Amino acid sequence: MKLRTILLFGSPGAGKGTQGAILGNIPGYLHISSGDLFRGLGIQNPLRETFLKYAGRGELVPDEPSIGLVQDDIENRTRNGTFQPETDTLLLDGIPRNVAQAQLLDDTLNVVGVLNLFCKNIDIMVERLQARALRENRLDDANLETIRNRLEVYKAETRPVLDHYGDSLSHTIDSTQSPVRVLRDVLEVLAKLET
Ligand code: ADP
Repeated sequence: MKLRTILLFGSPGAGKGTQGAILGNIPGYLHISSGDLFRGLGIQNPLRETFLKYAGRGELVPDEPSIGLVQDDIENRTRNGTFQPETDTLLLDGIPRNVAQAQLLDDTLNVVGVLNLFCKNIDIMVERLQARALRENRLDDANLETIRNRLEVYKAETRPVLDHYGDSLSHTIDSTQSPVRVLRDVLEVLAKLET
């Protein structure tokens, strides 16, 4: 059985994490952020070193371990009952992040919508990332060059994922708006997808 899934999509700083944290509180929706899973790895986990190496340069961690991390989390949550695969919807944030990852997930996910949080103003995104660097002590947000690299990686590797799923699944939301207004637009799409 494929898992009913909605992708939270958008460049670094577009606000996926902010929206995901709120939406994950809605009954029936499970928010999984690959970045949060990576940051939560214990120091004894060898993948943690790999993550720090790649994320510190603003690059993507290799595909197989990234997919494996998310699949393991879905399995654990299914086992402990915090995710009911028959009835719940997955909200994936940060994954798939390139076309190869999307292909690796094609057998697992039934993607019913892609919420594309679109921020046309690069300066706003850079400001948000720098504010988060201070707030959350994130090394990959602290340095302007790393931020620029992540925005480049997004353009070159992640944006093509939109074409993989096609225009009919994509819902573009203007994420230059305030978080409340973005949330309103996101909820409108989620409500439509339920019908
Ligand atoms: P942002 O979207 O702001 O860049 P994330 O928390 O989603 O932040 O990701 C932080 C870093 O974690 C990425 O730059 C990358 O190195 C790594 N990462 C997260 N998800 C993936 C993934 N699906 N594949 C490869 N690397 C990932």
